[in-house]
Amino acid sequence: MIAALTTENRLATILIVEDSPDNMKLFSTLLTFRGHRVVQLPGGDGLMAALEQARPDLILMDIQLPGQDGFALLQEIRASAHRDRPVVALTAHAMSGDRERAIAAGFIGYITKPIDIRTFPAEVEAALPAQESSP
Ligand code: MN
Repeated sequence: MIAALTTENRLATILIVEDSPDNMKLFSTLLTFRGHRVVQLPGGDGLMAALEQARPDLILMDIQLPGQDGFALLQEIRASAHRDRPVVALTAHAMSGDRERAIAAGFIGYITKPIDIRTFPAEVEAALPAQESSP
């Protein structure tokens, strides 16, 4: 928490896959306010193109999406050239089983919605890979 408040915060490119416009706006605002570059995607369409173009340091993946859900999209990422990108699940609080399932599926972590705006940026930053940003 304290580390996230220092000026040594690493700026990252973060891809957010989220179908709720309100959530997308909130997450994007909080992360861009911290100086991060945010790329927005409302669902799985265009996921591979977004990964190619944005080369995100981290992906925030909503689990509940129309069409392919977050689990299916994670499998797609893991089967692609972008398999090593860290992916954090965004799970709805009401869906209690989602959290355990998310970790078992290979997400490196999960953030429960509704988020706590005071802790969200630090939670995201804690999931960033230690060094090496992509070009
Ligand atoms: Mn959703």
